[in-house]
Amino acid sequence: MIAYCGLNCSRCDAYIATREENDSMREVIAGKWSKMYRADINPAQINCDGCKSDGMKFFYCDMCEIRQCCLSKNVDNCAGCDSYICDILAAFIKLAPEAGKALAILRSEK
Ligand code: SF4
Ligand code: SF4
Repeated sequence: MIAYCGLNCSRCDAYIATREENDSMREVIAGKWSKMYRADINPAQINCDGCKSDGMKFFYCDMCEIRQCCLSKNVDNCAGCDSYICDILAAFIKLAPEAGKALAILRSEK
C-alpha cells in the first residue's frame, strides 16, 4: 500500500500496531516517534489505517503537505505528478530514501 509520498503504509509500525490492536507496540512507537519528530506523541495517537484509507490516520500523515498536494493535483502519488521531483518531495526523500526509491520505480513503470 504505497502512500502519496512513496512510503509503504503496510510496512509502517503504526499501521501494524493498529491492525494488531497492539498497545505495547503503540507505547514503543510513541516513544520512538516523539524523539524522532521532537514532539509529544502519546500511544493513543498511534492509530492509522493508511494514508489513502477513509479510516483513522496518524495526525502527522493526515496533515502532510505531500498528501494534500497529491490530493489537490488528483494524482495517485508524486510519481504521477508533472512537477516530480519538486523541492518539497526532494526534502522528504532525504529523510526517507526508501520512499524516493519506491516513487522512482513507479515512475519507471509509467
Ligand atoms: S499514513 Fe499511516 S500507515 Fe502510512 S506512513 Fe503514515 S502513519 Fe504510517
Ligand atoms: S508538487 Fe511535489 S509534492 Fe506535490 S504532487 Fe508533485 S511531486 Fe508531489
